[in-house]
Amino acid sequence: MLSFGTYPTPVRLLDGLSRGETALYIKHDDRTNPLYGGNKVRKIGPLLEDAKRHGAHTVLTIGAIGSHHILTTGIFAKTAGLRVEAVVVGQPETPHVLETLRAVLAQGVRLFPASSYAHAVALLLARRARSGVYYIPAGGSNTIGAQGFVDAASELLEQVTRGELPEPDLIVVPVGSGGTAAGLAAGLAKASARTRVLAVTVAEPAWFVEHQLHALARRCARRVGAGALRNRLEVTREFLGGGYGHVTPEGAQATRLAEGVGVQLDPTYTAKAFAATCARVALGRERTILYWHTLSSAPLGPLLGAAADPPAIDAKLRRLARSAAR
Ligand SMILES: *Cc1c(COP(=O)(O)O)cnc(C)c1O
Repeated sequence: MLSFGTYPTPVRLLDGLSRGETALYIKHDDRTNPLYGGNKVRKIGPLLEDAKRHGAHTVLTIGAIGSHHILTTGIFAKTAGLRVEAVVVGQPETPHVLETLRAVLAQGVRLFPASSYAHAVALLLARRARSGVYYIPAGGSNTIGAQGFVDAASELLEQVTRGELPEPDLIVVPVGSGGTAAGLAAGLAKASARTRVLAVTVAEPAWFVEHQLHALARRCARRVGAGALRNRLEVTREFLGGGYGHVTPEGAQATRLAEGVGVQLDPTYTAKAFAATCARVALGRERTILYWHTLSSAPLGPLLGAAADPPAIDAKLRRLARSAAR
C-alpha cells in the first residue's frame, strides 16, 4: 500500500481556546509529511497506488491555480514514477495562491489553464482519452482517495483508546471536494463511534458541494460496510462569506486566535473551519471538540526549486493565473 504520511499525526489540547465545559483539541494533519503535509497527503496514497495498478504513466487531475491537491499530486506522483498533468481554473489571487502555483510548476507538473468550467471539461475529456492516463478528480475526492480518511478515523480512535484525548463529540473540518469529511464520517460510522462531523462548506455552489459530500459519504459508507450515516454528518454554509477563496471577517478573527496558540491558517479553508470551531465552542453544547487541521505547515521554500529562474517563472505564472481567471 502506497503511503506518504507519518502516522498518527499528533493531537493537542488547545487550552487557551477551550471554554467552560468544552475542551478544544487539534489534530495536526498539517504534519502528515515533513516536506509537504495537509489533508491531501492521506488521499494521494491510495490514488497513486490505484494508478500504478492500472499501469498508468501519467496522472491527470484538475483544480484551482493554488490547489493544494495539485501540488500534493505533483510532489508524490514523481516519487511513484508518474508524470502529472493538471487542468487549472482561476481563483482569487493571494500570495499563498501564487506561491503554491510556483511550487506546482517546480514539480514539473504540466498545466492546462481553462478559461471557464466548460473549457475545463473539454480539456479534461481530450487529455483523458489517451491510454496510460489515470484520472484523479478534483481534490482527490472519490471513494479511493477518501479511503485515506476512513483510515484516519481509525487512527484517531486508537489515539482515544491510548488516552491521548477523550472521544470527541464533534470533529470540525472544511469541505472543498468533500473527501475529508466523507471519509471521516464513514470511518466513524464503521467503528460505531459516538463522534459526529461538522462539515464547513468553503466552496461553491454550496448546494452542489453539499450534495456531492453526502453522495460521497454514502458511497464510502457502503464501500466499508458501515451502517447508515443518519446524523453523523452536519453541514454548515454559514462561514462561506463571499465564496471560495474570499476572506471573511470571522475567518480573519479566527486566524488571529489561532496564531495565539501557534497555528497558521489560510483564508480559503482553515480560517473558515476554525471560525466555525470557535463559534461551536462558544455554544458550549459539546464536551470535546476536535478541530482537524488540514493545511500543510511545511515551508514552501524547499519546494520552489533552486534551479528555477524566478523572473521567468513569475512571468509564466502571471500568464497562467490571468488566462485561468478569464
Ligand atoms: C483541499 C483542502 C481542504 C478540503 O478538503 P476536501 O477533502 O477537498 O473537502 C481543506 N483544507 C485544506 C487546507 C485543503 O487544501
